Formats: sequence, C-alpha cells, structure tokens
Amino acid sequence: MQIERHTGFNGLRKALSMNPDELIELIRNSGLTGRGGAHFPTWKKLSLARSSQGEKIVVCDAEESEPGTFKDRFILEKNPLIVVEGIAIASHIIEARQAIIYLRGEYSFLEEGIRKAIEEYNKLFGDINIHLIISGGGYICGEETAILNSLEGKRPNPRNKPPFPVEKGYMDKPTLVNNVETLAMLPLIILGDYDPDLRLFSISGNVEKPGVYEARLGITLGELIARAKPIGNPRAVLLGASGGVLRYDPNLVLTMDNIERLGGMLGMNTLIIINDEQDLLQVFKHIAEFFVHESCGLCTPCREGNPRIVDIMEKIIDGTATSRDISLLERLAKYIADTSMCGLGKASTKWLLTALKYFPEVFSNAKSNN
Ligand code: SF4
Repeated sequence: MQIERHTGFNGLRKALSMNPDELIELIRNSGLTGRGGAHFPTWKKLSLARSSQGEKIVVCDAEESEPGTFKDRFILEKNPLIVVEGIAIASHIIEARQAIIYLRGEYSFLEEGIRKAIEEYNKLFGDINIHLIISGGGYICGEETAILNSLEGKRPNPRNKPPFPVEKGYMDKPTLVNNVETLAMLPLIILGDYDPDLRLFSISGNVEKPGVYEARLGITLGELIARAKPIGNPRAVLLGASGGVLRYDPNLVLTMDNIERLGGMLGMNTLIIINDEQDLLQVFKHIAEFFVHESCGLCTPCREGNPRIVDIMEKIIDGTATSRDISLLERLAKYIADTSMCGLGKASTKWLLTALKYFPEVFSNAKSNN
C-alpha cells in the first residue's frame, strides 16, 4: 500500500532544502484535498496559515469517530513515522514550532507507537515540539474548531466561522488543522511517490473480511466489496453515519462526483455493507439515535430536531406513524441540514434524506390517515 511506504524522513529532508512557496505549489499540483471528509484544498489551507502573522501551531486531527471509519487508525498503527514526517513538513511550510497530535481516546493503544515516532524525529531533527494529547472522546471532538476548544480545556463545542482556525485558532494563534491521512500524503508528494487516485476504504458490516482496502477511485462497488467477501445478499451501503445510504449496486462507480450525484457523500471512503437479512428500519433508528447522542446541544435545529426524528422512527416501528409523520420526517431532515451550525448537524440527516429516496418501502409502515 502507498501509505505503508517507509520514507525514512527523506521527504522532510528534501522539504527543508526547498522554499515553502515551492512546496505549496507542489502540493497544489498534486491536487491533494483534506482526507477528513471536507476535501478542502490542502495547498490553500497551508497558504492561508503561512500568510497569517504570529506564532503558529499545527494540529493533526486523529479524532477519528465516524462510524465504520478506521483508516486513520490503520495509518497510525502501520506507519506513524510518515504522519510525524508530514506534521514536520507542514510546520516547515507555515513556520510553526509547535504541533499537537490530537488522538481519539479509544485509540490510546496507539500511543506507544506514536511516541516512538516522535522520539525518532527528535533524534534526527527535533526543531518542532510535537505533543500528543489524548481526546476525552466524542464525535464532535473531530470537528476542527471543537478540537481547539477541547485543547484549551473547554467543552468541545464548535466555534462560529469566521474567524477560521488558520487566522485565529488554538489560544487565538493561527492554527493549521489537518487530518492524519492528509498529513501522511505530504512526504509522498514531495518525494514524487504520490498517486492521487489511490484511496483507503474502510469496509465493514456484513462482510467476512472487514478492514482497510486500498483501491483506485473509479473501481466499482462490486469489485471492491468482492475483496471483503460479502455475506449473503447485500442490500444497502451506508457511507458512514453522515454520508447517506444507497441501494447496493455492484456496478456503482466509486467516485466522489458519482456519489454526490446520488445525494450521498464519499467523505472518508467508508462503506458499511448491510445485507437483506438485516432490519433496515432498526439500522436507521440506530443512526438517528447516534446523532441524538453525539449532538453537542449548542444549536436548536440539531439538538431538538434529531430527537423528533427518533420519536417518529419509533412510531414507524410500533405501527402508529401516520403519513403526516413521514412528510414531517422529510421536512425535519431538510430543516436540520439547512440550519444547523456545524458539519455534524448539517450531515446528521443525510442518511434520512437518502433513505426516504432509495428505501421508501422501509417507511411504508405508516397509516395513510393524518
Ligand atoms: S449542529 Fe449539533 S453538534 Fe453542531 S453545534 Fe449545533 S448542536 Fe452542536
């Protein structure tokens, strides 16, 4: 796999001999965008952070909490050195002297490997202070501004943007927040070893061999899932909790544009396979409950809207829902997506909008009266 390549800090050595503007141009030409799900152009974030004034910080977002997503865990387990190397390159580009790896609490078993990689860096270079902070846990802690509040010892609520973290972030200092995989790509780009079409897919659910699979964008869903050996007849594919749900189609070509055209989001390349033996209504209710549990409660649409969705899902399961409830579900889903403050709320109903579109039969247990 591309990500397992041992670069021996040669990407960093080469980067240190280059001008940061040249490096930004190289990253721009690579087409790299954020692998944490938002796909913001990486060169642009680096460039904005570089042009900010004052003491700067790099934060590596290792708070990977999206259900069914474990590719950052895989990278940190198999090759923590490349992540540390990427952090040092990003720090060189924006002229930061402090960096923080913000690790998901449940991933604390990775701590030893990451600390060893930091020690290795310190022996050879050591001009950046790289700290490892273990998160208290929580889905919202992976949001780029909630991380900053958490690092400052505050409740991890998202912040309003602007100002963006690259202008005013951790302790009001310009802060570059990048995902693990994004940073791990930097040494490969600098060494000319980067393949822009390769992606790490987290595959789980009704498959014999769940795990992280490397594949080229453009592979069909059927080809990719065959490698994980599906159990039974796949019926649905969940793109994490926040990426939506699609009917399983082996001929579906996996590209971001294709999935977006269908109303889903291939943000972190998460594929949870659900076969026809599962009760989809229960699966959907679990997703709705997940967002109720993980909402930070700061804004009304997400805090109050998601519990209403759970209420209606329970009515459908009990057989007491009406057609009016079903139309309310759709209105709630759109309203929450349009008016929530942060990405969690905005994406919290994508599953519902796609489920209503592709699995109307699952919601048909509603009385036609109102
Ligand atoms: S959308 Fe949800 S998670 Fe985001 S700020 Fe509002 S309540 Fe918190």
